[in-house]
Amino acid sequence: MRKPVLAGNWKMNKTRDEAISFVLQVNDKLPKGIDCIVCAPSIILRDVVKRADNLKIGAQNMCEAEKGAYTGEISPLMLKDTNVEYVILGHSERRTMYNETDETVNLKIKKALEVGLKPILCIGETLEEREAAKTEEVLKRQITLDFKGVSFDDPLDVIVAYEPIWAIGTGKSATSAQAEEACGYIRTVLSSIFGPKFAEEIRILYGGSVNTANIGELASQPDIDGGLVGGASLDSGSFLELCHALKTNRKY
Ligand code: PEP
Repeated sequence: MRKPVLAGNWKMNKTRDEAISFVLQVNDKLPKGIDCIVCAPSIILRDVVKRADNLKIGAQNMCEAEKGAYTGEISPLMLKDTNVEYVILGHSERRTMYNETDETVNLKIKKALEVGLKPILCIGETLEEREAAKTEEVLKRQITLDFKGVSFDDPLDVIVAYEPIWAIGTGKSATSAQAEEACGYIRTVLSSIFGPKFAEEIRILYGGSVNTANIGELASQPDIDGGLVGGASLDSGSFLELCHALKTNRKY
């Protein structure tokens, strides 16, 4: 049985004080037996890591290079030095607003694994692609290119998040059937690349307008091991509710 994951993506929100207060509020109220992760802005990662107890911490992006002339970038070695465990890679906001390609995402995944960070890879189709019945084609292409030449010692070293772009920050979540279909397909593609054992063990999340009202139904789908949550992860009460609902509803 795969350990469920509730990962919050704070994006560019929270001051240092707000982040610390969040961590102190959730620390001793998190459910056992699931991985609860918060991906915080890089400038406050050290403050958050220092105070996190059962909460795991991730970054939201990193450079594919370790150091050098990359003004404004975030070094994977510096993230590692900050003791974060996870890093979101290939989020659609990075792909669309900052021109990240599958090639750069691929380099970032390789570098993250090399330095000992666990990537949370985001993939997903646009509304136009879904309406043109191209969802599977897009997912397959992203998985193939993003993981090109990557080998894993352990399927737990990576998490894949299915995040349909039309559902992110829109309040319009995919239905649990749509999300399950896509996550199941992702598992099938991963099986063809890395083998059935890997595909059975890797955690696959759904992300896109997850909230306390829909997490239960999403989490009760066999191939959805949890959620990557933006807006609803910002409030500590809502984050705790999501974590507990995930634990209660995840039966697989
Ligand atoms: C996200 O940013 O990854 C996300 C899923 O955001 P939201 O939950 O706000 O749709």
